[in-house]
Formats: sequence, C-alpha cells, structure tokens
Amino acid sequence: MKYVSTRGGTRGVKTERGFCDILLEGLAPDGGLYLPTHYPQVDETTLTRWRGLPYAQLAFEVLSLYIDDIPAADLQRLCEATYTEAVFGTPQITPLKKLYDGPSPVYLQALSNGPTLAFKDMAMQLLGNLFEYELARRGEQLNILGATSGDTGSAAEYAMRGKQGVRVFMLSPHGRMSPFQLAQMFSLQDANIHNIAVEGVFDDCQDIVKAVSNDLDFKRRHRIGTVNSINWARLLAQVVYYFAGYFQATQSNHERVSFAVPSGNFGNICAGHVARMMGLPIAQLVLATNENDVLDEFFRTGTYRVRATSETHETSSPSMDISKASNFERFVFDLLGRNGARVKELFGAALTRDGGFTLTATEFAPAADFGFVSGRSTHADRLATIRRTWQEAGVLIDTHTADGLKVALSHLQAGVPMLVLETALPAKFAATIREATGQNPEPPPALRGIEKLPKRFTVMPPDVAQVKQFIQQHCAA
Ligand SMILES: *Cc1c(COP(=O)(O)O)cnc(C)c1O
Repeated sequence: MKYVSTRGGTRGVKTERGFCDILLEGLAPDGGLYLPTHYPQVDETTLTRWRGLPYAQLAFEVLSLYIDDIPAADLQRLCEATYTEAVFGTPQITPLKKLYDGPSPVYLQALSNGPTLAFKDMAMQLLGNLFEYELARRGEQLNILGATSGDTGSAAEYAMRGKQGVRVFMLSPHGRMSPFQLAQMFSLQDANIHNIAVEGVFDDCQDIVKAVSNDLDFKRRHRIGTVNSINWARLLAQVVYYFAGYFQATQSNHERVSFAVPSGNFGNICAGHVARMMGLPIAQLVLATNENDVLDEFFRTGTYRVRATSETHETSSPSMDISKASNFERFVFDLLGRNGARVKELFGAALTRDGGFTLTATEFAPAADFGFVSGRSTHADRLATIRRTWQEAGVLIDTHTADGLKVALSHLQAGVPMLVLETALPAKFAATIREATGQNPEPPPALRGIEKLPKRFTVMPPDVAQVKQFIQQHCAA
C-alpha cells in the first residue's frame, strides 16, 4: 500500500510513500495529511472469516491490508504484544456493555481500559511498539516532543516508557492538570520519559513545541518527532475496534450498526469513516461535539469555521475542547472525490485568509452518503445524561461518553444497534460525575493511591532556549 497527501493535487508530481516512511513523519511536505491511495475492500467472505477472531489477530488482519513493508510475522508479533488482557483489562479488549434494550439497542463499547483510562491508549500502545521496531530496524533514534493538557501526553508516555530508541519530552502547564492526570504522568520513573512543567498555560507549551519544531536545524540534529493525532498509524489502529464492535453486536454480516463518537480532532470518527469505506456495514456515524461545535456546524451547514482561542469554551468534557479539527482534512479529501487541488485551496489559502470555508451545495451534498449525522451537547445535557444512565442502567459514564450518548439517542433507527464509544473512564473526571450523581467513581485497583507516589518532573519558565538546552543535555546522556 502506498500513501498520498490530501493536498497532492491532480496536477504535478504525486509523491507516494510507504507505511514505514509516513510512520515517523508528521505532515506531508506539502502540508497535507497522508491517506492510502485506496481503501481495500472487505467482502462477505472476509467478514465471516474475521468474525470470532481474537482482537490481536483481527488487528493483524486489518493492519496487513495497509502495511506491506513490515514482514507478516513481525507485524503479527507486534499486534500480539500490544493487545493483551494484561494491558487492556479484558480478553475482548473492547467489550460491549448493553445500556438499553429495544428495537434499537444501545451499547457502550469500552475503549478505555488501557493504562491511562482513555481511548487514546488503543492506538498509542501500538504506536510505541511500531516506533521501537522501526527505529531498531533503521538504527535510528527519535525524540518525541509534545505539549499536553491531559490525555494525549499521558497516553504517549505510557506507550513509549522503556522503549529502545525513543525519548519523550512532554510539556504541560505547571499546576493546571487534575491531581490524577498529574500523578499519572509525573509518577513515571522511566529514564526515557521527561516531564517538563512549564510555568504558563497550555498555549505557552504548544508555542514552545512549535518554536522548537520550526528550528529545522535543531529538529534534524536532535531527531525531533511528534505523536499527534494526524499520524496515520494511530488512525489505522483505531479502525480495528469498529470491526470488533460490529462483530460483537451482530450475528450475521447482513446486519448494520451505527456508531456514536465523542469528537474533537476528528481522529476517532475518521477511523470509523475508513472502516465504512472498506465495506463494514455501518448505517450512521453519529458525530457528537460539546459546546465547541465546529464539526457539528459543518455537518449541519457545509461551513467549516475555525474558532479563535478566545472563542473556545472550557468545558467538562475537556478532551473535546478544540478550535479546529486536525484530522478533518482527510474526510474532506474523500468528500470532494479526492480532489487534492481543491483541498489545498480550502485548507491552505482559504483557512489562512478567511479562517474557514463553505462548500458549494454540490460539494456538500454527498456528506449524507458517507453516513454522517451530528449533534452537540452542553454541560447541562452531560449532567442529565450521566444521571439518567446511572439511574436507568446502573452504569457510570464519563463526560465525553455522555456527549456521545446524548447525541446518539436522538439518532436511533429501528433495527439498528447503536454503539456509543466510551472514550474515557469516569474516574478521570470525578468532579462532574459527583455533581451529576453524588457517586464517586473509583479508578481501577491498580491506580488507587497513585496521587501519593513520588513524582519526577522539571519546572521551567516558558522559555524556548531552556527547553532546547534541556533536550540537548538529555540526548547526549
Ligand atoms: C481525544 C479524546 C476525544 C476526541 O477524540 P478525537 O479523535 O480527537 O476526535 C474524546 N474523548 C476523549 C476522552 C479523548 O481523550
């Protein structure tokens, strides 16, 4: 399988890359995102063969369709090392839990039983193993630099801890993370994990990452890379659980299901789009946003309008507090019949000039054929949904999942099971759960008392030079 940039254009040179090339790269050189040249089709016979496979084996089958530059035996070993009961808590890895019976049964699909209690572990754990494998093969090293306000940073650290050839430098705003999130990251004692607490806000952290990455000489000399959500390997890993959810909710390949996805950067639901393009019988992809409704607005109107930082709401589902959706360009590429020149115009010039764009009626019309519907949820909706799910189904759900469930319930179709993706465990957002139900969600036994463990981190002013110096020192060591 080869990969092309979403801004590749219909004219000019089309540069095609292999999976392992784009694994360690971020954006394509033209500023676009990578997608496979085509989506391999999964027919009836294949679906039947895959039904009933253990998760790791299913992952190997899906990944094999997109990866032809890692020997099969190695890829299989990496999948088996990643998706284990020891790491993800259950033999099914992403088990379903039924919330409501009826003509349209509603399930939760658990994606959050990994080490950091959020769905980002599903992809990041695989990425850690792929990075270690590919770096060893090339005899190279990689220094991952990132900024986090919570979920992504801890998922990256837990995926990369102890990995050969990889170091992580993670910036976070000093004193601004929840005690649980802070304890998760800062209690890691692995020598290749470096937590830098920046005396500033999240934007300061992000600005430093940008400044360091823009110093191309420094970046090359110190082999600086990222693990952000535009990485195709992360997206690909997420395709697998749409298949796993489908097989658990159905008896035959003639049934269809819908998925409801709490969305921010459009990574998770984009994986659902890929699964649907491969032929998985998905009726609807229900996109749920919180008060930051950039994407809901697009699917209702055809207008994509990036928000200013000052317009971004701080909500009780903070991992969905985004001003623009970094993976969205991938979907628009497909929506526009893979017209890279038009994508380049929209996401390059128009976004910079006007802060957004409106598709023509002809361009926007096929969006429904791709199965997308959308809705938004507010703090009041979140509380009501969490309370109702606790009272009616006896299940505590987290705030992001509540946004997904709220929107899902307004898109039920008779005869079509609805799978709501559980993107985090309630223990991560305990304050809102208490507000809604009076219940205190407990973290899994292994994480109880984590706040009391010794912490390992370095406090620093928001100063690019000092961060660079820190990286330099720890690379040489
Ligand atoms: C990252 C995250 C999301 C948003 O996922 P995207 O792939 O960015 O759309 C939703 N919920 C939780 C808990 C997350 O950590």
